Amino acid sequence: MSKKIESDILIIGAGPVGLFTVFEAGLLGLKCQIIDNLDKVGGQCAELYPDKPIFDIPGVPSQTAEEHIEALLEQIKPFDYDLHLNNRVDEIHQIDSKEEIQKWKVITSEQNEFIATNVFIAAGGGSFEPRFGGGDSALDWSVELSDLANSITLVHRRDAFRGAQNTESQMRELVETGNIELKTPYVIEELLGTDQISGVSIKNFETKEIESLDCDEILFLFGLNKKLGPLENWNLKLNGKKISVDTEKYQTSIEGIYAVGDINDYPGKLDLILCGFHETTLAVQDAYRRCFPGERVPFGYTTSNTKLHKKLGVKVD
Ligand SMILES: Cc1cc2nc3c(=O)[nH]c(=O)nc-3n(C[C@H](O)[C@H](O)[C@H](O)COP(=O)(O)OP(=O)(O)OC[C@H]3O[C@@H](n4cnc5c(N)ncnc54)[C@H](O)[C@@H]3O)c2cc1C
Repeated sequence: MSKKIESDILIIGAGPVGLFTVFEAGLLGLKCQIIDNLDKVGGQCAELYPDKPIFDIPGVPSQTAEEHIEALLEQIKPFDYDLHLNNRVDEIHQIDSKEEIQKWKVITSEQNEFIATNVFIAAGGGSFEPRFGGGDSALDWSVELSDLANSITLVHRRDAFRGAQNTESQMRELVETGNIELKTPYVIEELLGTDQISGVSIKNFETKEIESLDCDEILFLFGLNKKLGPLENWNLKLNGKKISVDTEKYQTSIEGIYAVGDINDYPGKLDLILCGFHETTLAVQDAYRRCFPGERVPFGYTTSNTKLHKKLGVKVD
C-alpha cells in the first residue's frame, strides 16, 4: 500500500552515516525517515564485512562491523524515526508551493511517497545490486570452511579474484595442499537434487564442457555491485560517481539536498565512517535552519543535554 509520510529530514541510505544522522537530528528535535533498498540496515558494514573488526571508530578500540551497526541502532533508539527497507529511492521532485522553504517529494520503487523539508543522501557508493562473486566473502568462506568441511570446492568464472591478496594466497595454499578444490573458469549451470541439494552441474566458461559435482551445501557469494542508479538523474552536480558538496554544510548543488558519507566528494575526501559522521553533524545544523528559519540552532553538549538524559533514563550530576 502506498504511504505519504512527512518529515524534517528524509535520509536515503541506512548505512552507518544514515543511521548516525538520526542521532544528530534527534538531538535538535528533528524527525527523520530512513529509506534503504536493502532488506536490512548497515550498508557496507552489514552487507560486505559484518565480521571484520573496525579499529578507527574514535573511542572504540575494536568493534566488528556488525557490532558497530548494533551500537548505532542502540544509540538512535531514543529518537523519532521510521525505517523503510526494501525501497529504492527513484525520484526526487521539488514541491511547487508558496511556502518560504522549499520542500521535497521523494518516490520509491514501491511507490511510497515522502514529503521532507530536507533530503540527506547517505547512499554510499549507490544502491547495491548483485554481481558475480570472486570477492572477499567467497575467499573468506572457502578458507574458513576448509578446516571444518570434509571437502570444499570453490567455483568461479575466472582465475582472478577481487578479494584481499592475503586471503587469495591462503586459498591458493589450501588448493596446493588439497584442502580446497578450485574450479575456474566455471559457472554453475544447474542445481541437482529433488527434495534437497545433491550436487550441481558446472560449465567450463572456455570449453563449454559440463561436469557434475556432488555436494551437501552450496553457498552463493556472488557479491554486490554498487550502482549510482537513479541518483544520476537528479540533476545534482557530480564529480565522477560522487556528488559534489561544500565543506561547510555538505549541501549539494541544490539547496535542501545534502550528501553525506561515501557518496559525497570534496577536496581531501576520505571514504571513512568517522568522516561521514562529521559531515552529517554539520549538515544537520543547516537542515535545522531550513526547518526553523531565523532561529538559532540550539548547540549543546550531550553531557549537559537533560532532555536526552531523560529519554535515556540516566541521571547525570
Ligand atoms: C571491506 C571493507 C572494510 C572497511 N573498513 C573500514 C574501516 O575499518 N573503517 C572505516 O571507517 N571504514 C571502513 N570501510 C568503509 C566504510 O564501510 C564506509 O565508509 C561506510 O560504510 C560508508 O557509510 P555510508 O553510510 O556513507 O554508506 P554505505 O555503508 O555504503 O550505505 C549506503 C546505503 O545506501 C543505500 N542506498 C543507495 N542508494 C539508494 C537508493 N537510491 N535508495 C535507497 N537506498 C539506497 C545502499 O543500499 C546502502 O545500504 C570499509 C569498507 C569495506 C568495503
